[in-house]
Amino acid sequence: MLALAVARSVALVAAGLVTLVAVNPADASPTNPEYSQNSASYVVAGVNDYADRNRIGGTGAAIDSVVNGRANVTATPEEARRIQRLGYRVIRAQTEGFPAADAGYHDYAEMMAELDRAAKAHPTIMRKLSLGKSYEGRDMPLIKISDNVTEDEDEPEVLYGAHQHAREHLTVEMALYLVRLFTEQYGKDPRITRLVNSREIWIVPDMNPDGGEYDIVGGQYHNWRKNRQPAGDGYRGVDLNRNWGYKFGCCQGSSPVASSETYHGPRAFSAPETQRLRDFVLSRRVGGVQQIRAAIDFHTYSELVLWPYGYTERPSAPGLGQDQQRTFATLGGILAKSNGYTPEQSSSLYITDGSIIDWLWATQGVWAFTFEMYPGSPDKGGFYPPASVIAEQTARNREASLLLAEYADCAYRVIGKQQQYCPR
Ligand SMILES: [Zn+2]
Repeated sequence: MLALAVARSVALVAAGLVTLVAVNPADASPTNPEYSQNSASYVVAGVNDYADRNRIGGTGAAIDSVVNGRANVTATPEEARRIQRLGYRVIRAQTEGFPAADAGYHDYAEMMAELDRAAKAHPTIMRKLSLGKSYEGRDMPLIKISDNVTEDEDEPEVLYGAHQHAREHLTVEMALYLVRLFTEQYGKDPRITRLVNSREIWIVPDMNPDGGEYDIVGGQYHNWRKNRQPAGDGYRGVDLNRNWGYKFGCCQGSSPVASSETYHGPRAFSAPETQRLRDFVLSRRVGGVQQIRAAIDFHTYSELVLWPYGYTERPSAPGLGQDQQRTFATLGGILAKSNGYTPEQSSSLYITDGSIIDWLWATQGVWAFTFEMYPGSPDKGGFYPPASVIAEQTARNREASLLLAEYADCAYRVIGKQQQYCPR
């Protein structure tokens, strides 16, 4: 079907009827298994005539445009190899980038470059490390910010994570904002200086680099949510925030069907990306004590501050007694007051099982929140708000992010029970 469409498009180009050819949008649907392959953009040089174009189209690659003897194609790695074997020079397009109007967003390469720049500019307080590789082999950066950054000091640790869901690009900007905030304000803003000196701050700016890059392939959005791992039945993608190992798939808060947007995967931690972050979090257990005390996992959208559990509507459940529930609700309320979001237990939105915050709390005792960022409603751009909102909507979470880091020493302070739970 796709090949036919390409052949027809090529014929149109050859006839001079159109100069720019794109795959029919219906074929580009992310749920179409034919399109949901491991496709990427390539430039093919030496494409001079009708026969060249047909040979390339015959490999199964989609020809997006032909300009001055160079064809821009969308192809699987196998298709790209076939084109190469025909004798053409094939160059992998580094990145498509965001649609021009949204160039203010960072794609993967731009994000990595900014992190490298920041680490180079602030070597004494920032390190750029790696969680490991994504399914498609992209490096998943891990940022540490603290004084004496190369040492593992005995300080409360806080974790900020972003981009489990591919199309939620504003969350990457949130993470980059935090990197800038903690590094550039160190030594200038006393509050930030104090936090960097007394905390170990971990930032994971991109949990889903494969999905994020796929979502902007071709310079247009694909409304993609999951990662890019084969899921069976020709479909791709596991919902990373349903793949965590506490009450996995328990409660109809995720789907066992491969084509579903909330497909939880064949088993907990089946996705390389969730394995990577899980392994890092587990590595922060020192002498049996988890060093990470508090966390925010950034998502979009709805403007909500959410806390565990997501798998049950009950406010208290195993591992979450009355004091813990009160601490979550009180701290969640304080955070929400600072950014104007609505605070509520995660399950008030809808039941989710296998989420990161349920796992972080239930198995590691981390005070873990989900932030659903801007906008509050779909008419303000939904998952794709314009780049013009980035500065305001990331700075909006400055206070909440600092408050969480401050409470990382003992969250029970918010209900006045630090003596009982955090004895010195
Ligand atoms: Zn999300």
